[in-house]
Amino acid sequence: MISNGKNITIIGAGFTGLSSAYYLLKKGYHVEIFESAPFIGGQASTINLSGFEIERGYHHLFTGDSQIIDLINDLGLQEKLKWHQSSVGIFDGEKIFSFQSPLDLIKFNKIPFFDRLRLGFITLLLKYKKNWKSLESMTASEWIKSWAGKNVYDQIWGPLLRGKFGDYSEEIGMPWFWGKIQTRFGSRKRFNQEVLGYPNGSFKIILDTLDKKIHSLGGVIYKNTPVKKIYFNDKKEIQIKFLENNFKQKTKNTNVVLSTVPSFEMLNICDFPDEYKSKLEASKYLGASVFIMELKEKLTPFYWLNIADRNSPFLGVIEQSNLLSSEYYKNKNFLYLTNYLDRNDWRYKLEESELLNIYCDYLKKINPQFNKDWIIDYTYNKISAAQPIIGKNYGNIIPEISTPLEGVYLANTTQIYPEDRGTNYSVKMSQKVVDLIEKHF
Ligand SMILES: Cc1cc2nc3c(=O)[nH]c(=O)nc-3n(C[C@H](O)[C@H](O)[C@H](O)COP(=O)(O)OP(=O)(O)OC[C@H]3O[C@@H](n4cnc5c(N)ncnc54)[C@H](O)[C@@H]3O)c2cc1C
Repeated sequence: MISNGKNITIIGAGFTGLSSAYYLLKKGYHVEIFESAPFIGGQASTINLSGFEIERGYHHLFTGDSQIIDLINDLGLQEKLKWHQSSVGIFDGEKIFSFQSPLDLIKFNKIPFFDRLRLGFITLLLKYKKNWKSLESMTASEWIKSWAGKNVYDQIWGPLLRGKFGDYSEEIGMPWFWGKIQTRFGSRKRFNQEVLGYPNGSFKIILDTLDKKIHSLGGVIYKNTPVKKIYFNDKKEIQIKFLENNFKQKTKNTNVVLSTVPSFEMLNICDFPDEYKSKLEASKYLGASVFIMELKEKLTPFYWLNIADRNSPFLGVIEQSNLLSSEYYKNKNFLYLTNYLDRNDWRYKLEESELLNIYCDYLKKINPQFNKDWIIDYTYNKISAAQPIIGKNYGNIIPEISTPLEGVYLANTTQIYPEDRGTNYSVKMSQKVVDLIEKHF
């Protein structure tokens, strides 16, 4: 590829940064990526547990995730992406209810029959509703309670919202919930069964292939290289101050900078006019605290178990090895215990061994056979900007991708709306960013 001589600096080698780099390089730009971590992939990165690459936070794709599916095809990985039947349950503190088909809904006797019918009707209404803008001024909690009733909220959708937003669940705007219904119910095939995509070899194979393509197109990725400042010199050129190998301070200039860091980090590294700054300040996130365990036995038969019991110390159990065939992990059982938490929450700050003990006590409630000896190996990680908190009228506070500073762009998960943030929407946003950068030159 012949370079067009225009330099673009990308901050962050997550899906947004990597896919933007790939598309920009294909158009002839010269691209360098600065990544503070020692690895690429950000929130979708993997670790090795018991010989298998597994995402730091559970990841799957939906059938409607067309932008990332196109990217996977473009990278020549179409054979790797496999679709698996999902299985979903709800644990109410005493019993697990299967929750995957209309029949399960009919059998869900925690709420009166009339409410079950209402739930089915409201789900269909949301699935076919196209104009989400009219929902902007309501929280999901208000809307669901008024349309589907308090029982449905308390027993089903409230716990699902809590599973994603913890203590902030009552504040979440209705468009986010609408978006979730669209993706989840759009990812159903025969007999209304949900199917989810997962690449053979984990998300790492997408990241590694992007890495290789970026290098072969002349791009460079600097790991362990946090960016400390974006500013303009006297000649009004953009300057990037960074720490090479986390140690040596250096400065470079660039024609354009695309930052993919969380909004709170963007505030640290760049000074903006007040109006834009206040939008960044208004972007709030939950952190994720995630245990990944290899267990001797399966805890449940489900891939995804929502915990509806408010006394549970965690919000969800995701049994990765229940999504894929048992051959994939050579009969090993992998499970995530997940929590979305305010970064000041006691569980976010607690020592992992103490947290593990608390979690293990609760696992016995889900499966009385469970004991700590089942844990063959585990790893624990915290993801600080895991989930933007999407309140009502969220559209008014989204920071623009083109910042008020000429040549400085921002693309992060707070700008994904009304859909739930996810790798597909990072790829989609990167295509938008590339268009904006092209117009800039
Ligand atoms: C628990 C969990 C489960 C998820 N499940 C799914 C799922 O099932 N399906 C799905 O599609 N998506 C899922 N997601 C969401 C998906 O992972 C993210 O939406 C996507 O990876 C975001 O990519 P990004 O590049 O925008 O951000 P990030 O991945 O956060 O990348 C930003 C990068 O910037 C780097 N950085 C930060 N500050 C600096 C600095 N100063 N200098 C240099 N580098 C810096 C970070 O290290 C990071 O690598 C999940 C996320 C979490 C947390």
